Amino acid sequence: MKKAELKNYYQGLKYPKDILNILSDAFPDAKCALIHNNPFELLISTILSAQCTDTQVNKVTPILFKHYPTPSHLMLAPLSKIEEIIHSTGFYKNKAKNIKECARLIVENFDEEIPRSIKLLTTLPGVGRKTANVVLSNAFNINEGIVVDTHVKRISKRLSLTTVDDVEKIESDLMKKIPKKSWGIFSHLLINHGRTYCKSQKPKCSICPLNSICPYYFSLPTIKKDE
Ligand code: SF4
Repeated sequence: MKKAELKNYYQGLKYPKDILNILSDAFPDAKCALIHNNPFELLISTILSAQCTDTQVNKVTPILFKHYPTPSHLMLAPLSKIEEIIHSTGFYKNKAKNIKECARLIVENFDEEIPRSIKLLTTLPGVGRKTANVVLSNAFNINEGIVVDTHVKRISKRLSLTTVDDVEKIESDLMKKIPKKSWGIFSHLLINHGRTYCKSQKPKCSICPLNSICPYYFSLPTIKKDE
């Protein structure tokens, strides 16, 4: 493509659609990696996943939910017992306090139901926009925003879908470019892509399925393209 055509392509709607199509082919099974059986379990698992791998969270949550299967059970749980169960997820004191208080507020303010909007979810302790988006998209199929984690942030910049560092501004840039019906799957695809090819250090550009359209790859010197 000529320079002017390329500029139009990157600014148009075909580019994000091409990214979605290529990544959907590469990762047909992309989905939420946190194991959960209901919105309550997903909410608590997502809070526990801060600064921790999904795999580690999946090891502790079956024990946690076996003891405390609902918000009313969890709000009455001894803090020390919660801390003991979730210890390996890191920041366990804060997380234990947050999930216990979260459970209490769900019982007292929301009649045991997990709220279905970013505005209400973010009234809960330990819940920011990212966690709220995870819950809305994966538990309720509601696309109110886009989950921006470290993979989505890094890859969106490499793909020139955004130029900023602020997470909320990145989300807003992505919401303008990605078709709304794909907001949920977009994050899962980028997370899979980040773990497999577009790693933080040494992205595997030469074998990446996006390298024919990736501006970061185009900008690499030829010698680096083969690494
Ligand atoms: S070509 Fe490289 S920088 Fe571009 S998306 Fe693929 S791995 Fe990431």
